[in-house]
Amino acid sequence: PQLINQIAAGEVIERPASVVKELVENAFDAGARQVEVDVEQGGVRLIRVRDDGCGIDREDLGLALSRHATSKIASLEDLERVASMGFRGEALPSISAVARLTLTSRTADVPCGWQVSADGSESDFDIQPAQHAQGTTVEVRDLFYNTPARRKFLRAEKTEFGHIQTLVQRMALARFDVGFRLRHNQREVLRLQPDAEEGGRPERIGALCGPDFLEQALRVEFEASGLRLHGWVGLPTFSRSQADLQFFYVNHRPIRDKLVGHAIRQAYQDVLYHQRQPVYVLYLEIDPALVDVNAHPAKLEVRFREGRMVHDFLFSALHRAIAGHRPGRTAS
Ligand code: ADP
Ligand code: MG
Repeated sequence: PQLINQIAAGEVIERPASVVKELVENAFDAGARQVEVDVEQGGVRLIRVRDDGCGIDREDLGLALSRHATSKIASLEDLERVASMGFRGEALPSISAVARLTLTSRTADVPCGWQVSADGSESDFDIQPAQHAQGTTVEVRDLFYNTPARRKFLRAEKTEFGHIQTLVQRMALARFDVGFRLRHNQREVLRLQPDAEEGGRPERIGALCGPDFLEQALRVEFEASGLRLHGWVGLPTFSRSQADLQFFYVNHRPIRDKLVGHAIRQAYQDVLYHQRQPVYVLYLEIDPALVDVNAHPAKLEVRFREGRMVHDFLFSALHRAIAGHRPGRTAS
């Protein structure tokens, strides 16, 4: 089962950025207002995520690590299920199957924190008292140390850190109310203050997408048939084309979707006759019943129940925003 766990974990934990994603999502779930991510050597040597969320009780520490795949993934069939669905409620156990994990946490109502370590093999955890402010720190060392095949697929340190940086950027654009700090090899790469007010958002957009994006970007705000689209879209005419500056959120979850990309490109080209990649940070709000964002928790997939309707909505919202700023050149 240990081997199967490692394989299964590898389906979800593909690279250091996958670990960061799971840990930051947990911090969000814990109600954190501040998330600090420390990375060494592209995340292979160390990933440490610290939050000021609700923390984990002493009794629950072992539990968080031990809803373990051991009992659940016993067959090839189970493995296939994991490969297609991803783990749910199994992020920490699966990380601990392929790395050395230490969890330190303290809840609001206790005088001291507690720490537990795991390397995926134990079922009995040794829980020790530890200094910690309210919140949680998860430390992940030596990723894939026991799965050389996985480790071989990792890219250069710089590339792996690049994935982490893009991921943190994407998550920071989803949660303006959470402060972030990102460091690589002790060097601060990103620091963002939490911001509850809508008015402070441009500052974060500027920090993450560059001041020239913010300067040229058009504000989008459009509502129709129960859907709302808001955010920023850059005019390729002005902004330097940056294919990776494409951030789209459905109900504040980051997603990547062909249909969305197509609708946006169409609107661009229709108004601007422009072939360059659009740049955008856009938020779609839609009735949760009309969308399935859990198609694969480890990926950024989404399934719209009414794809055509969403496509047309996006197209008209953007068409309007862009054409509105090009008065001489509205839709023909
Ligand atoms: P899931 O998030 O799907 O429940 P995880 O394996 O990611 O599964 O986490 C297991 C459990 O550990 C969580 O349900 C939560 O109770 C606890 N936990 C993990 N990370 C944190 C955190 N940063 N703060 C508070 N609780 C946490
Ligand atoms: Mg989780």
